[in-house]
Amino acid sequence: MTNGTQLPAYHFDTQRVRAGYEPTEHNNAVSPPIYQSTAYDFKDVEHARNLFSFQEAGNLYTRVGNPTVAVLEQRVAALDGAAGAVALASGMAAISYTLLNLAEGGGRILASPYLYGGSADSFKKVYPKLGIQFDYAKNILNPEKLAEEITPDTKAVFIESISNPNTVLLDVDAIAKAAHEQGIPLVVDNTIATPYLFNPIAHGADIVIYSATKGLNGHGNIIGGLVLESGSFNWESEKFPQFSEKYYTLRESNGNHRSFPEVFPDFPFTTRIRFNYLNYFGAAIGPFDAYLAIIGLETLSERLTKQSQNAVTLAEYLNAHESVEWVRYPALEDSPHHTLYQRDFKNGAGGILSFGFKGTQEQREIFLNAIRLFHYHVNIGDARSLIVNSPQTTHGELEADEKAAADIPENLIRISAGLEDPADLIADLEQAFQKATK
Ligand SMILES: *Cc1c(COP(=O)(O)O)cnc(C)c1O
Repeated sequence: MTNGTQLPAYHFDTQRVRAGYEPTEHNNAVSPPIYQSTAYDFKDVEHARNLFSFQEAGNLYTRVGNPTVAVLEQRVAALDGAAGAVALASGMAAISYTLLNLAEGGGRILASPYLYGGSADSFKKVYPKLGIQFDYAKNILNPEKLAEEITPDTKAVFIESISNPNTVLLDVDAIAKAAHEQGIPLVVDNTIATPYLFNPIAHGADIVIYSATKGLNGHGNIIGGLVLESGSFNWESEKFPQFSEKYYTLRESNGNHRSFPEVFPDFPFTTRIRFNYLNYFGAAIGPFDAYLAIIGLETLSERLTKQSQNAVTLAEYLNAHESVEWVRYPALEDSPHHTLYQRDFKNGAGGILSFGFKGTQEQREIFLNAIRLFHYHVNIGDARSLIVNSPQTTHGELEADEKAAADIPENLIRISAGLEDPADLIADLEQAFQKATK
């Protein structure tokens, strides 16, 4: 139903406009149609029987599958080289369904301390009540020592490929190796990088998560998410008894119950999310939102290239500014992540950067209030440039010690570079700095 890579011979830029969609199957429509339909007629009783016993692939009900949504799933799967994908209503649904699918009977997740605010907040507030506990890795920057932190109850390692808001880069290959040596998968939230800047599966990841809300779609007009799987992790181990469980919903026509890996050997993880969590918890993405994400993907490479260029220009301007204490951006030569950037990010470091405002809290607030061209809000990856004081907003729920562990100083200001002319962006920052320091 959702295995991608229909066009394995083509390059990335061809796949992002073509993969997962065949016009002859859709009345020769060139642009993928929006299938705004709740359900799909069965041809006859036998067709219904075959669909329900998974003997035949097809559409049943839009909560678990829709032809427009399937184009999005297959296209992103192709871009990531994934064996399977499931699209969901948000990035948070992608994270929560992944964590439940991994550790639904209880267990521990070893997480990077450098995470999106909503992830960090929910890991503290919600999951422990469901029996899922988080350990924040002390050795995420030294993966050769990571094994010490993996307990018998640890179900996965969870990281971001480019962290939010700090743009920390990690040695994903070495982290994947440490996880695999302990028999557990690596989950990578690749939202900021997008498949254009970084391919987690090629670096050893087993599960990839996206908020499609951000750079993947790139126009600040939808909420959406995806979970992808490499297809190479062995889920039938004692650590993951849920994957050996036989379900009556997966029965053969003779009544024999089966497990997800038996019925969907190539992509059991995302199919189990689809038929258990998406089906019963219900965070389905609408066909129109999926369509907007498909259109957004068509310009992914150009957008991320321009945003990376704009971010470099802004980082260099800020780095030389007297009102700036420090700048964090991996493409800068003095970044502690510059070596990994050069090794793994051939297409650029993306649009997110942050800087430390030099001055009092009052001056920082005058500066933010004086900004005119940048939008002041909590999204990222938009075509428009955005600015925000993360420690007081997106990461405002963190306690002081948690902000210290996540390396988010109080004077941090995050920028998400858009597609504007960089001279206008610099002029806007400059006039705001001048108001704040006069
Ligand atoms: C925004 C974001 C999410 C959550 O995505 P939503 O689509 O807003 O639910 C998850 N991870 C990262 C890194 C994000 O930036």
